[in-house]
Amino acid sequence: MPIATVNPATGETIRSFEPLEPEDIEFRLARAADTFRAYRTTDLPARADLLGRAADLLAADEEPIARTMTTEMGKPLAAARAEAAKCVKAMRWYAAHAGELLADEHPAAADVTDSGAARVVVRYRPLGTVLAVMPWNFPLWQVIRFAAPALMAGNTVLLKHASNVPQTAVYLEELFHRAGYPEGCFQTLLIGSAAVEEVLRDPRVAAATLTGSEPAGRSVAAIAGDEVKKTVLELGGSDPFVVMPSADVAAAAATAVTARVQNNGQSCIAAKRFIAHAEVYDEFCERFTEGMRALTVGDPMDAATQVGPLATEQGRADLERLVKDALEHGARALCGGHRPLRPERGWYYEPTVLAGVDATMRIHREEAFGPVATVYRVPGRERAIALANDTPFGLSSSVWTRDEDEMAHFARDIEAGGVYFNGMTASHPALPFGGAKRSGYGRELSGHGIREFCNITTLWYGAGED
Ligand code: NAP
Repeated sequence: MPIATVNPATGETIRSFEPLEPEDIEFRLARAADTFRAYRTTDLPARADLLGRAADLLAADEEPIARTMTTEMGKPLAAARAEAAKCVKAMRWYAAHAGELLADEHPAAADVTDSGAARVVVRYRPLGTVLAVMPWNFPLWQVIRFAAPALMAGNTVLLKHASNVPQTAVYLEELFHRAGYPEGCFQTLLIGSAAVEEVLRDPRVAAATLTGSEPAGRSVAAIAGDEVKKTVLELGGSDPFVVMPSADVAAAAATAVTARVQNNGQSCIAAKRFIAHAEVYDEFCERFTEGMRALTVGDPMDAATQVGPLATEQGRADLERLVKDALEHGARALCGGHRPLRPERGWYYEPTVLAGVDATMRIHREEAFGPVATVYRVPGRERAIALANDTPFGLSSSVWTRDEDEMAHFARDIEAGGVYFNGMTASHPALPFGGAKRSGYGRELSGHGIREFCNITTLWYGAGED
């Protein structure tokens, strides 16, 4: 895949980049390792100052970087602005909270005296240089939600971003440099995916995080496993959205539309499978389909647009094949099921609702990465939970019910990293984010996220210390 900005609204190549030469990669690896040796000794207030400055710069850059993102991957401009603002919020949150999240722990003396210790301290020390392999769908947010805590913990970062968002990738490196970080703290590697293995195997890289598809995750995790290096994987999802009889069906249907088409339908935590109890299925389907049909598809730079193009031509082709397979096996399109008549150029796809989906169809078990929903009718709670779990993925879920007993069952039995009641899944700096099953492992955000790339060190002091 060439490293280039190709506008998905037009198909036009805006700017191409040459991949780094081996000597450039070597230079950056060496600089990351050298910088780590000094940066790891800085204190948290100094790191917080740097991150706070980077947040202020990003806040000031909101409009130009939002336009860059929209040009590179097609999200509506308002959503791109919101993404930049969310990054600023997360950076400020980690700058403010890293001190308490990484504070030394002091196990109670009574618990450790039989180890012979006079005292014990558990300290969160940085791991080293962390390689981040990132996707294009939230080109700023995916990077910041890893990099802000990783830098606060004292690590240095190498970013291998998706090949179709190089301008955002270059912007990120410049942002951290302008904020005053030493040059080796955050570096972008403009390289293709084939060059990842060599970087990952380099002894100067301590760990890796990958957000992206299952094949990419499997490959990076296998190499890291071979090298015995820590990884965090944030992979795909096919989140269920369950509507039970006690729910506010109108609110559920309105939220369902947003939850499915956010980011032009290309979000790992987008609700993708809509499971409604038979008592409310008809009303939910009618309202949901109406909402999907009413969406404005068009130029993502236009303020009226709700759904822009898919990010890549390949992505649209994959989605079309998934829908075609379902229709050929007996599914019905309640709306959409094809490209829109307009715009004529660009990689657009009509918001689509498919009913009559069953396990013979690929879309039942694969992730639909675009504005395509499937709806299912279920007779009761047990079937709803079974269907919600009938997927290789386990990222998050949304359940609409006012029944406390029902909530307790869903909270216990849904196999996913999140269960959001009467609302849609959304990430937040203070809440852990990540998946189960084939959606990956490890967590981002919150205290869990910042500790993923720490060396949790036991400092044991014998009685003779004085
Ligand atoms: P992708 O094709 O897996 O690409 C993600 C990143 O991995 C890119 O930087 C890509 O580089 C690189 N890559 C691809 N194959 C690789 C390999 N074999 N070895 C090393 N690196 C490799 O995924 P995408 O199409 O950009 O993103 C969509 C997927 O990401 C969806 O499945 C979505 O659900 C998932 N996602 C998950 C989360 C989460 O938090 N769980 C968040 C967002 C997206 P190139 O661009 O150079 O190929």
